[in-house]
Amino acid sequence: MNVEFSDRTSKLKASEIRELLKLTQKPEVISFAGGLPAPELFPIKRIEEVTKQVLEEKGEIALQYSTTEGYAPLREIIVNERMAKNGVNTTIENILITNGSQQALEFSAKLFVNKDDVIICESPSYLGALNAFKAYEPKFVEIPMDDDGMQMDKLEEAIKNNPNTKMIYTIPDFQNPSGKTMSIERRKKLAEIGAKYKIPIIEDSPYGELIFEGKPYPCVKSFDKEGYVITLGTFSKTFCPGFRIGWVCASKEILQKYILVKQGADLQANTFTQMIAAEFMQKYSLDEHIKKIIDVYKKRRDLMLESMEKYFPKEITFTYPKGGLFTWVNLKEGIDAVDVNVDALKQNVAFVPGGSFFPNGGNKNHFRLNYSTMDEEHIVEGIKRLASVIKKYY
Ligand code: PMP
Repeated sequence: MNVEFSDRTSKLKASEIRELLKLTQKPEVISFAGGLPAPELFPIKRIEEVTKQVLEEKGEIALQYSTTEGYAPLREIIVNERMAKNGVNTTIENILITNGSQQALEFSAKLFVNKDDVIICESPSYLGALNAFKAYEPKFVEIPMDDDGMQMDKLEEAIKNNPNTKMIYTIPDFQNPSGKTMSIERRKKLAEIGAKYKIPIIEDSPYGELIFEGKPYPCVKSFDKEGYVITLGTFSKTFCPGFRIGWVCASKEILQKYILVKQGADLQANTFTQMIAAEFMQKYSLDEHIKKIIDVYKKRRDLMLESMEKYFPKEITFTYPKGGLFTWVNLKEGIDAVDVNVDALKQNVAFVPGGSFFPNGGNKNHFRLNYSTMDEEHIVEGIKRLASVIKKYY
């Protein structure tokens, strides 16, 4: 076959993580590679019960086409519970249900970015978003982070140097991959910068509610006075990713464009899973469920970090995330984490090498570890094995 693909499609590459996940599916592999929620925490019995109820009581609606905007009771819950908890005062007219937040990321680039326009992102940033954006052939400008997240002076400098900046992409809470969190002052500043330069800010927040100590941070959107901040939320990490329910929260003017794009892409999100999710959240407390998840992940984070302190060479640094799913490991310059990964896989341990989280390349001496998926015993064993592999490089 000699079929010709569009320029756009020819440039797409398989996600390194998805490829890696295939290798790590073998049962003997201790995988710190994916970002999967712990499956044993899925509320299967309760979902089974409400699914039956939805079919019995509202089956004809649940299996039918529905509106592009999404199921109104679910959007109400998002407004009154999820967004409110993050300090955002909004209405259901500002919410569109998407097929996971991944779809909303793709739509964002489609809406705002022409070929060779600039997308500003954190350095490193979420690989899945970078891959989705790449289809629109942008240039990426990376902004360094410190312990308080993206550095605002560097961001403003980058905007001034790149007048064709069309979008700023941030993951402010327990960032994937670095585990870092943006301070409240910087969130405020970021909202101000969006309004000052009239650039949309895509605030991607799948992990904000998975906070191990204290209350969730206010969203960047909670400081948004002029409507330049677009917040993407999801139930993937707080409920279950298989349902593929995410959302966009934006000003009505901007949301209207997301709705048009959604219509063209797939008409609407799955009616049935939206209704099951809404029914579940009306009957049971999602907050209580999130508490259970937090308890387990916090223990796993503690155990992973303690094991790393105990077994890794002392020169190695890593982040101490206050929530979310990931810690980020810094090896000394010159070590390629891809080589370490190949060696680790021989010992049946996997992680994601850090290089692919930097859209402009370089930075090969880092890697990302996930602590949510493996149970306690496997975390300790996996870190011990990883430590013995890494020691050979020191
Ligand atoms: N954004 C970030 C930062 C993520 O880590 C993920 C999932 N790993 C997503 C978006 C996509 O999540 P979903 O489509 O399941 O909502």
